[in-house]
Amino acid sequence: MTQQAEVSSKVSDVVVVGGGIVGLSCAWSALREGATVTMVDRDFEGDRASHGNAGGIAVTETTPIAVSGMYTKALKWLFDPLGPLSLDWKHLPSALPWLVAFQRCGNKERFRAISLALAQLNDRVYQDIVPMFEDIGAMKQLYRRGAMTVYETDEAFAADQREWTFKRELGVRWRALSQAEVQALEPSLAPVFRHGVFLEDWSHIGDPKQLVTQLRDRVRALGATFVSGTVTRLDMSASLAPAAVTDTDEHIRGRRIVVATGAWSAALAESIGDRVLLDSERGYNTTLPEHGIGLSREVIFAERKFVATPLDIGVRIGGAAEFAGLKAPPNYKRSDALLALGKRFLPGINDAGAVKWMGHRPATPDSLPVIGRSPRASSVIYAFGHGHLGLTQSATTGALVADLLAGRTPGINLEPYSISRFRN
Ligand SMILES: Cc1cc2nc3c(=O)[nH]c(=O)nc-3n(C[C@H](O)[C@H](O)[C@H](O)COP(=O)(O)OP(=O)(O)OC[C@H]3O[C@@H](n4cnc5c(N)ncnc54)[C@H](O)[C@@H]3O)c2cc1C
Repeated sequence: MTQQAEVSSKVSDVVVVGGGIVGLSCAWSALREGATVTMVDRDFEGDRASHGNAGGIAVTETTPIAVSGMYTKALKWLFDPLGPLSLDWKHLPSALPWLVAFQRCGNKERFRAISLALAQLNDRVYQDIVPMFEDIGAMKQLYRRGAMTVYETDEAFAADQREWTFKRELGVRWRALSQAEVQALEPSLAPVFRHGVFLEDWSHIGDPKQLVTQLRDRVRALGATFVSGTVTRLDMSASLAPAAVTDTDEHIRGRRIVVATGAWSAALAESIGDRVLLDSERGYNTTLPEHGIGLSREVIFAERKFVATPLDIGVRIGGAAEFAGLKAPPNYKRSDALLALGKRFLPGINDAGAVKWMGHRPATPDSLPVIGRSPRASSVIYAFGHGHLGLTQSATTGALVADLLAGRTPGINLEPYSISRFRN
């Protein structure tokens, strides 16, 4: 066998770098179309955002995080050490370009364009996620019971009306709830919520980590090869198929490479000259396996910016947006602060056996993921940057990537998610 033949016999149709929920969904879609797939991850079993998230299929989240006027609120939060937003000042120099871009997304036109792009993705979430869940046997853990946003004050409820009206224009179904209706739907809540908004299309799953395991097992059963390794760069040398190159200089070659390394994706994009603004928006939670309360659906606490989800493994209480980079150790006082709020608003909740967790949301300043081909190398496809919505948009991202891999025109316009938007 010649050296060239030897190399090409090891070339998969697709190499997917990153074995979180997004990378696995891309692999699943490609395998179902008959492609050969190699998955690469530095630690397939290791912890990551996909394992510990809140478990929400949050299709009604169709507006970006950056909202006009948010800066005043953000500044106030920054001075509260355990408030919903925090910035490690040592991280400020590297976060600055991201923060400047974030601020620009609050302007009316950008806000509208981003919202349309989010709605376009979220509109088809169930169309993509249901077949994937059916195939991996996860439908029983998809709880389509809606979610509820709750408000302590008339002022906060009134202030959000513009955004709710706008969301309705985008196709989001919601209805306002009185204090009595909130209480009737979730009797475990403290009787302090003067208003609620019921979101019938939001759902939640039983256990994000279990979902990743089920999907990984299915991807393995469909024939994917699994390679453990830390990818440090992509290699696009002209004579051979593109390669994901590991820190031990292993070249894992594929006709196409999908970059799905979550919050760690910027370095790989930059290795072939693509600039991206991506930061880790660190989130915290605590899971209470012996909670002892009855909660039917995810509850979003509007003023305090946290959520409680009734997972199969316990009630998970979490939130927070901490900008401290990928390497700083977790500050679990944030989990404690969120748990204290949870105990206040879900009185009687039992915290025996509580498990604290921190994860890195892969956040772009405009809250839109990066999905699409690299403008530098058409054999490289990006699938990262899903921020708060990576679980929600996982199967849809996989389906869109499969379209690109097969050379089909995707069913939606991918322009808003292109990495090219970070060029300037
Ligand atoms: C507190 C919190 C709550 C959340 N709640 C929700 C929610 O309710 N609903 C929702 O939709 N989303 C939620 N999210 C967001 C969601 O979890 C993420 O958007 C999603 O998990 C991102 O998935 P991913 O596959 O892109 O990244 P990850 O899950 O981070 O996976 C990336 C993978 O890439 C691997 N990797 C990284 N670098 C390399 C490298 N150089 N070489 C090899 N492998 C590498 C890692 O080991 C990892 O396995 C939440 C996130 C947090 C933190």
